[in-house]
Amino acid sequence: MTGYKRVLLKLSGEVFGGGQVGLDLDVINTVAHEIADVARTGVEVAIVVGGGNFFRGAELQQRGMERARADYMGMLGTVMNCLALQDLIEKNGVETRVQTAITMGQVAEPYIPRRAIRHMEKGRVVIFGAGAGMPFFSTDTVAAQRALETKCEVILMGKQGVDGVYDADPKTNPDAVQFERLTYDEYLARDLKVADATAISLARDNYLDMVFFNLSTPGTIARAVKGEKIGTTVSV
Ligand code: UDP
Repeated sequence: MTGYKRVLLKLSGEVFGGGQVGLDLDVINTVAHEIADVARTGVEVAIVVGGGNFFRGAELQQRGMERARADYMGMLGTVMNCLALQDLIEKNGVETRVQTAITMGQVAEPYIPRRAIRHMEKGRVVIFGAGAGMPFFSTDTVAAQRALETKCEVILMGKQGVDGVYDADPKTNPDAVQFERLTYDEYLARDLKVADATAISLARDNYLDMVFFNLSTPGTIARAVKGEKIGTTVSV
């Protein structure tokens, strides 16, 4: 077990809200502390931030909004999460840079992949916000795209309170069984919903593994980065 040198961590909005709407700074600080510890060991870390704790475009659409506009609101929500995470990682003593797919020069750099790689090489944690900058995409898909473009070795999908991928929703079905390993084709054939199909097929087509694990268990980010067997690994 050698561990990874450069990882892409995906944090869903649920993590930022601690399961609620808005921000739970205590929960974010716990995660920020673990990320800072991992970065200090010399592992290069990029993070894609979700935004479901503020807005999900599809939900706003059901309430009558135009989908593309609602999706832009969703993307802007991810940026607030980025800034909260940036603040708390820096308070834990590690430098960071936020890069957004929608330009907003006062608060973040634009997404420039080669510069993101350079930041990581200098020991800075890079936080990617505003999704892909395009409606009808998800931050899971962006996680796969950013991981590929910035040459991360694995996508670590941090979940709030869920240990990995199950054959049914463990929150509603007590008989749900967790997978230890799964191929991308099995994942798609079972129509599982933990990450969306676009993200899964992008990772599959480019031979990039995804590890789904429970962020609520202390120390899991470090264990995932070391390549320890935790949660569910999805691979080709
Ligand atoms: N979103 C988008 N394009 C992107 C990424 C995100 O339109 O490239 C919007 C979309 O409305 C989505 C919201 O931003 O519902 C929040 O992202 P996501 O649902 O992926 O966050 P998570 O589920 O990880 O909290």
